[in-house]
Amino acid sequence: MHVLLTNDDGVFAPALWALHDELQCLGRVTVVAPRTQQSGVGHAITYLSPITAQRVRSEQGREAYAVDGTPADCVKFALLELLSEPPDLLASGINMGCNLGHNIFYSGTVAAAVEGAMNGILSVAFSSSHANAPDLSRVARQCLRALEVILERAEARRPLALAYNVNLPTLRDGDPRILFTPHRVTAFREHYLPAEKDGTPGYRLDMTSADGQGHAARRTAGCDVDAVAAGMISITPLRPCLTDMDALERLGLCRPPDLQSD
Ligand code: MN
Repeated sequence: MHVLLTNDDGVFAPALWALHDELQCLGRVTVVAPRTQQSGVGHAITYLSPITAQRVRSEQGREAYAVDGTPADCVKFALLELLSEPPDLLASGINMGCNLGHNIFYSGTVAAAVEGAMNGILSVAFSSSHANAPDLSRVARQCLRALEVILERAEARRPLALAYNVNLPTLRDGDPRILFTPHRVTAFREHYLPAEKDGTPGYRLDMTSADGQGHAARRTAGCDVDAVAAGMISITPLRPCLTDMDALERLGLCRPPDLQSD
């Protein structure tokens, strides 16, 4: 199996390499990741200016491509220019901080997986509650557990272009339960704090809800946020198509026949 690995925390993020080491048991791993920290850029792409891709080496001396762009750029560039054949799997992460509820719309980690799915590749985003994991290899091993479940169950569904959003709880002793969950858009606490920018008074967005604790409002039992808050590994299948099919039907307009099977 050939795995394309990317992230949004940058090519030198220790969690990327922890996942890299675990993924090696599946086969060959090619790392194409942003040169700099790209958290919160969502599905942004770079097209008004050129991008660069440089061969770099990790602290452990492993080779990677560092792309001067976003996570979605990395996937697009890898698929269109760097790889001679599409990979069998795209893995994105491990992001430090969960991507649950609202956050999946902001996340570069999830966007990279969605970009892979848009190109017909089985794609999985990994995010962890651990802000500063003392033992990243333990977190990465739990990611592989979730991935094995996905690979086992997704096999029959190919070639459906699904992306999977995996979120890990704070790890305790033993293996957390794995639960497939629906994504729910849940409001969470956020506010602006006073901050200075270039000598001018300004504001910094404070988002402190990485592990689901801040998603108190309008939570839905059994959703992705709840599963992680309850100490379980959440796996949410995502689809790049954002259409609300129920609303489309209720709006009362005829659907073109070719959309009915989508
Ligand atoms: Mn990040």
